[in-house]
Order: sequence, then C-alpha cells, then structure tokens
Amino acid sequence: MSGSDLSAVTSRRVTVLGSTGSIGVSTLEVIAHARETYGADAFPLEALTAQSSVEALAEQARRFKPKLAVIGDASRGEQLKNLLSGTGIETASGYDAIVEAASRPSDVVMVAIIGAASLEPALAAVKRGATIALANKECIVAAGDIFRRAVAEYGATLIPVDSEHNAAFQLLNFDETHAIERVTLTASGGPFRDWTSERMAAATPEQAVAHPNWSMGAKISVDSATLMNKGLELIEAHFLFSLEPEKLAVLVHPQSIVHCLVTYTDGSTLAHLSAPDMRTPIAHALAWPRRMSSPSRRLDLAMLNKLTFEAADARRFPCLGLAQDCLRTGGLAPTILNAANEVAVQAFLGRRIGFLDIARVVEDTLSARASNGSGVPRDVEGVLDADRQARDLAGAICRRVAA
Ligand code: NDP
Ligand code: MG
Repeated sequence: MSGSDLSAVTSRRVTVLGSTGSIGVSTLEVIAHARETYGADAFPLEALTAQSSVEALAEQARRFKPKLAVIGDASRGEQLKNLLSGTGIETASGYDAIVEAASRPSDVVMVAIIGAASLEPALAAVKRGATIALANKECIVAAGDIFRRAVAEYGATLIPVDSEHNAAFQLLNFDETHAIERVTLTASGGPFRDWTSERMAAATPEQAVAHPNWSMGAKISVDSATLMNKGLELIEAHFLFSLEPEKLAVLVHPQSIVHCLVTYTDGSTLAHLSAPDMRTPIAHALAWPRRMSSPSRRLDLAMLNKLTFEAADARRFPCLGLAQDCLRTGGLAPTILNAANEVAVQAFLGRRIGFLDIARVVEDTLSARASNGSGVPRDVEGVLDADRQARDLAGAICRRVAA
C-alpha cells in the first residue's frame, strides 16, 4: 500500500452495529463520501443493525446495500422483512441476531450501539479477530480487563472512535510509554457548565440533551451534562491505553476544538485539534493506519479567535468524582457505576427522577454494592451478572427517589 492508492482501505468490508444512531448515521455519511470520492464499491457493507428504528434501518439498507439488516426488537422483524422484500437483502431480528451479525465475516466492525448492550456483539467481533472501531465506551468501562484480554487473545485490533481517545491514539507514542507523564481529556462542560446546583436541580431532559457543540444521542448527551461522560472516558482511557489513574486528567474546554493533550517527561505537550465533528475520528478509524478524505467540518482558528480552558468542578458535577473513585477502586466498581448510570439516565429522560438524582442513584447503588463486596470479575458472565444486579438495585433506588 503506498501513495494515493487507497484500494486496500476502501475494499474493507464493514459492519455497523447501531447504524440508526448518531454515530451510525455519521459512519454511513463517511462511507457515502468515500463512495463518491473513491468509487461506488468503497466499503462494501456486511451488516447494519438497529434496535427499534425499523423504517430508518430499511431506508439505510436500500441505499447502502448491506448483505444483512438486523432489528433488535423481535416484534419488528416481520416489518423489516416486508420493507426489504425484493431487495435481496437478508433480514433477521432479536438481540442474538445482532450478536450473530457481529460474528459474520467483515474487516471492520463499527460498535455504535448505546450502553452495555454492545458488550456481547463487540466480543463476538473480537473473537474472530476483526478490527473494532469502538465508539461505544460502556462496554469497555463495564468489562475492562476482560475486554482488553479478549482483544489480545484473539488478535483483534481496537481503534478508538470516541473523539478524545481517537485523539490520544493519534498522539501517543506507544514505543515510549515510559515517557508518558499525563494524558488530559478535554470536556466541553456540557449545557450546565455555568449553572448553579440549585438551577440544575430543576433541569429538564430537553435542557440536558441540548449540547452546545456536539449533536449526539440522548443518553450520552445527558452524560455530558452530568460530566459522567468524562468520568466514563477516564476509565475508557485507562483500559484502552493501560494508563495508571494518576496519569489521567480532565480539563474543561468549552469550544471542543482540542480533544486531548499528551504530556511527555521532557515537558512537551502535544495536542490534537479538529472541529467537533465525529466524522473525523470515524474516517480515521476506518482508514487506519492510512488517511482518507472525510466530509467533516474543517477548523477555522482565525474565526474562532480564542480557545479557553478551566478546571472541572467536581463539587457541582459529582458524577465525575464518582467515576474517578471507581477508576481507582477497580474490580467491578466501573461495571456497577456504568449500570447504575444507564438506569438513572433512563429514569431522568422518562421524567421519573430529577437531574441531580442521577448522581444520587449512582452513589447509593455503589455504596450498597460495596457493602456486599464488589469483587473482581473473572469472565464475561461475571460482568453481566454484576451489571444485572446493579441495574435491579439502581431501579429500586430510582423508585424510592421518585416516591
Ligand atoms: P444513539 O442513541 O444515537 O444510537 C444508538 C444506536 O444503538 C441506535 O442505532 C439504536 O437503535 C441502537 N440501540 C439502542 N439500544 C440498543 C440495544 N439494546 N441493543 C442493540 N442496539 C441498540 O447513540 P450514539 O450514536 O450517540 O452513541 C453510540 C455510542 O457511541 C455510545 O456508547 C456513546 O457513548 C458513544 N459515543 C457517541 C458519540 C456521539 O457523538 N454521539 C461521541 C463519542 C462516543 P434505534 O435507533 O433503533 O434505537
Ligand atoms: Mg468523547
């Protein structure tokens, strides 16, 4: 592979898990752009999957022509089959069919499902040694070492898509890991960056999902508003890059232009900059180790005029501190943190609990599980078991808070 010939990149067969979500749609935009730029046969698709957006999935399948389209909600399987009849595209339904889609032969699997539901399909792709373009952070937070060990054992390749981690992946010198002093992930601060706790107590789901810089799915938007997203990302960085918790830091940067800073022992700090547009890390992950064209927005620093940075306020955003504690504790603490947070965010989006209750539910779930002994997971079953128990407990705490 050399020069401008990208055929070895564009011939990669791709599976997109969670194709109807924010990252999934951006991935298909990058692929559409590649087909316009490099030829109509660029990035042939093996499978597209969604949970319940059956019409959007069928429309994507008609346009992008994967071999297989899968809808997670089994009650919509018949509808998907009817919508795609006569196209020659195979259809399937149910969670197991999503896992099966991930295990079918493809070169790159974009993991863009939301939440820990991505764990089993992601592991299925890992087990056949695929390249995993990992947008989803919850699976690596929940399964940490087990996920990392599986990647090594099966010879899979993990390319982070989460913007800060994709930036770190580009900045880190993996031959000089001894010289990495600090990796700083930036956070926009979310829509409530300058709100008081009193004002946040009355925040609505609409206000919480109105992110100032990024257009994302509802769950990660709420995580950005609580700063749990940055906490999950610290844990994600720890597992992705084998970095000790003390070497990981957070800096609030409201413009979301600098995504990560890596400081080396000689005092050099390298920064990665791009417009806040996920199509940049997605294109990087699909083409790695080469570079290809992406339709993403370009930076205009003269127009931006200035970039600002400030410390994160863990007092007003307690979810960040909870995640940092779990990072230091290790074992099943990140699994429990993630599960409790998923349940609490759903309860907030369903208007059953208030915005500040999210941290309360997570903290109470962690305390209750800690007194039962949180332990270290031995295998995936151990992770899934702890995840289920934490969800049950967090659900009960949500009901108590709501009463
Ligand atoms: P969305 O909510 O927009 O999309 C989620 C996708 O997963 C949809 O295709 C959805 O299908 C599908 N899905 C939902 N629940 C399930 C389930 N239980 N089983 C299988 N599939 C399911 O999420 P985002 O695209 O915002 O985020 C995806 C992941 O990427 C998250 O882990 C997030 O943290 C991470 N990420 C996202 C960024 C962003 O900019 N959005 C940035 C960095 C990381 P349906 O449409 O049918 O519901
Ligand atoms: Mg991120």
